[in-house]
Amino acid sequence: MSQSKFATLAVHAGQQPDPLTGAVNVPVYLSSTFELTGIGTDRGYDYSRAGNPTRAHLEEALAAIEGGTCGHAFASGMAAIYALVATLRTGDHLICSHNVYGGTTRLFNLIIQHYGIEIEYVDTANLDAVKAAIKRNTKLIHIETPTNPLMVLTDIAAVSEVAHAHGVEVSVDNTFMSPALQSPIALGADIVMHSTTKFLNGHSDGLGGALIGTKPEHKERFLLVQKAAGGIMSPFEAFLVMRGIKTLPLRMKQHEENGRAVAEFLSTQSKVTRLAYPGLKSHPQHELAKRQQRGFGSMLSFDLGSREKAGKFLGAVKLFLNAESLGGVESLASHSATTTHFALTDAEREKVGITQGLVRLSVGIEDKDDLIADLEQALAAV
Ligand SMILES: *Cc1c(COP(=O)(O)O)cnc(C)c1O
Repeated sequence: MSQSKFATLAVHAGQQPDPLTGAVNVPVYLSSTFELTGIGTDRGYDYSRAGNPTRAHLEEALAAIEGGTCGHAFASGMAAIYALVATLRTGDHLICSHNVYGGTTRLFNLIIQHYGIEIEYVDTANLDAVKAAIKRNTKLIHIETPTNPLMVLTDIAAVSEVAHAHGVEVSVDNTFMSPALQSPIALGADIVMHSTTKFLNGHSDGLGGALIGTKPEHKERFLLVQKAAGGIMSPFEAFLVMRGIKTLPLRMKQHEENGRAVAEFLSTQSKVTRLAYPGLKSHPQHELAKRQQRGFGSMLSFDLGSREKAGKFLGAVKLFLNAESLGGVESLASHSATTTHFALTDAEREKVGITQGLVRLSVGIEDKDDLIADLEQALAAV
């Protein structure tokens, strides 16, 4: 199975027919507890916080499609990031990409920092800045590439090489690309993190998160956090994510095709500035995107100049829904400064370039001509 190609793994890894009935889908095991076979013996499961068969199948699928050795599913992407840093200790130093998902900085600044963990935000697109930031107590470099919403890339292989030379681990938030378009572990990363809420589940109907590790101690650590802190994914959500993974390769092909078409259209529009899409030759890291990714995805952002203009645009789109989140089959448009990055202060947003005129698109799998027509009429209203 592990020798199979990606689209085959997406359909089959972890998703074998049920041995009891032959059902081709993994059953949803709605059981909090499991009958033991004796004192201290069981059939592999005793209590669903520690392990649930439906979740276990998803976890196996996640490990396979990311090329890791263990998968761990959590209640949300944030619960997964929390689990990632939960085993750091007072005095440890954590380096984080400087313009990550707003929820990540909220967790680090308002909660994790109070545990005496030193957190340093670094422009990880700049390798020298990463080298300069590594200290004796650095334990983890957490990167997100491309970043939300400005689509800045970090060279995963280069950062991993530098980190490993200092005995530091690298975790990559792979939510924006999905394993269909980017394989951080193959590039040298130690841990992959996902908000399965987005492309993996793909239908905007369930929240979830995941960590995929590469070492026995990852399995031990993440299992401990699942069991001890309890922020695990429910069996029903695990079923939904498994269903989503089966069509991930197909969906990503259409997301990709539509994303490129929309980016090319927007690049011809005079009202649009600072268009950020790694698939455009004008993107400063286009070459890195070609080398590191197997496509450019369907996330992009652009600036309309002011909050008022962004508001007019978001009020005028019809097919694109004015909503946060991303990665579902439907196209979404959102105002980053007041949604995903609302938790940041004005100064912090200014520093990373999230202006009041910035609009982010998650391009869905509808007909691309219809999507472009919708954007055209909405731009006319600006
Ligand atoms: C949405 C998102 C998260 C958080 O995931 P939730 O499932 O909403 O908790 C983390 N990172 C990225 C890049 C995201 O887009």
